[in-house]
Amino acid sequence: MGNSFYYPFEKNGFDYSQESIASLSEYEKYEFSFHPERPKYLDYLSIFENVNSCFETDKFGNCLIQTHRAKLFGIPVMLVGQQSGPSSNYKNMRKAMMDPAQIQKWNHGMPVPISYERAVKAINLAEEENRILLIFIDTPGADPTERSEANGIAWRIGDAIHALADVKVPTISIIINRACSGGAIALTGTDVTLALEHSTYLVITPEACSSILFHTRSRANEAAEISQITAREGLTHGIVDELIPEPNGPAHRNRSEIFESVKDALKKYVSQFSNFNGDNVIKNRIDRWEKIGQWEMIDSLELETFHFPVSRIPKPESTGYINRHKNCYNENGIHQYDPVLFSNLKQSNFICDVCGHRYVRPSAWDYIDWMVDSGSFFEHEETKFIADKDILGFPGYIEKLKETRIKTGLLTAMITGDGTICGKKIVLCTTDFGFLGGSFCMSTGEKVWRAAQIAINKNVPMIIQACGGGARMHEGCSSMVSIPKAQLAMSRVEQAGLAVVTLITDPTLGGVAIGIGSRGQRLFEYNAGHIGFSGKRVIEQYTGEKTSPGFQTVEWLKEKGHAEDIVHPKNLKEKIYSMI
Ligand SMILES: [Zn+2]
Repeated sequence: MGNSFYYPFEKNGFDYSQESIASLSEYEKYEFSFHPERPKYLDYLSIFENVNSCFETDKFGNCLIQTHRAKLFGIPVMLVGQQSGPSSNYKNMRKAMMDPAQIQKWNHGMPVPISYERAVKAINLAEEENRILLIFIDTPGADPTERSEANGIAWRIGDAIHALADVKVPTISIIINRACSGGAIALTGTDVTLALEHSTYLVITPEACSSILFHTRSRANEAAEISQITAREGLTHGIVDELIPEPNGPAHRNRSEIFESVKDALKKYVSQFSNFNGDNVIKNRIDRWEKIGQWEMIDSLELETFHFPVSRIPKPESTGYINRHKNCYNENGIHQYDPVLFSNLKQSNFICDVCGHRYVRPSAWDYIDWMVDSGSFFEHEETKFIADKDILGFPGYIEKLKETRIKTGLLTAMITGDGTICGKKIVLCTTDFGFLGGSFCMSTGEKVWRAAQIAINKNVPMIIQACGGGARMHEGCSSMVSIPKAQLAMSRVEQAGLAVVTLITDPTLGGVAIGIGSRGQRLFEYNAGHIGFSGKRVIEQYTGEKTSPGFQTVEWLKEKGHAEDIVHPKNLKEKIYSMI
């Protein structure tokens, strides 16, 4: 058994110099960022004083995010760290990974709901004890299993983002290795984000991106190139504030130097923050996040060429019937052809009574019709010209945006405006699944931000309809970094004493669920499905097992204790009115 681990590219003249590392392919740089011998969170404890573990239990998942009280240069800090494996000593790690109990315990470094619960406890404790929060990020992603979905992983990640938005102490995240997807963004909605020079920060693994983009996992290197996942590229895009140098070679070859390097970087921020005051912390946080994200503004003439209300609700024939959807089979496998009474279909919220197929995903304008008084909706001038920006030069993105604008009548996936509900003024944000799957992106983050400001200025409640399959990979990690921005915006509305109501619709997954879908007084749309963190297909691929019947439907979520308030679209207006 070898005592050290080497990637194939670490042989044959590879000398760990900056030039050598720069010459690696993007996928190799990605692999480099989670080299098994790179120091992990617990290794970094050596740079702190008076380190004491807190909230430690034997429960499954507790070790995947660890929390410690400590001091740095005599200043009290609270440490939260994703521990991605048992050891960064390769020999010890190999040994541990021969024990099935250890393999299970470390769960491939993927945090589960109670891991995020531990993080939230530590964030709250930091505020209680006036400790600066230092958060170490190192994860391939959050756990994609039915068990984690049943335990509400989307909402627990959402709680962590929420806690970081509200906490009245300074927060610093440090990306030490790989920071992937929702598992990472759970804890990077901070006042400062630092990243080790050879770390990566990404919204989707290169393999998964390749399989969506090229229908094969084998073009992961191209996907990594396109997505711009290195910490250095994160710095260029403004989602990393500062790189921590790995001066004489990568972290796994020069451990003591790296610890000094991290300590030096933290020294600057921790001493700058040492005399913090809670109100200033929040003010600075708002100033910081206001600047996060990139978008374009288009002019009104261009907007007028495609911007019209579009409905996706089918029209019945004069008989009151509508054709049955294609490929409808009953439980005995018999193909069904009979037409369906439209009124019944409306009653079931467009779910087939035979096979559960969804006939339609309503448009953003359909939700506006259902939620506000007829004729009362006016789109915000402050948001209506915000357009998506192709910051990565992502293949086909611009063409896709153009097509989608014409198809949906929308400039972006979200529309925001003023309206009234039973005469009461509100700010409303609705999302359109037809716009690239409603995926959460930088323009959505900015629109929620501006709509929240309008709600605060006008002193009215904010209503958000959440819909979408996740964060938009065409904008790389920057799409994901707008998730905490939207959450901070919603926190501001709540802190102004105004109601925030979120309607969860089909689908609300990944970046949509952990962001806007996690907040406010939450309503679940009757008969909706695909609600949670990881999608059904991802989970089935990962576990190799079929998910349970009804998985991720509102009824299933209710049974698991995650969906108390369920509402049929026909009752939406009255229901929301009663809540605001
Ligand atoms: Zn059917």
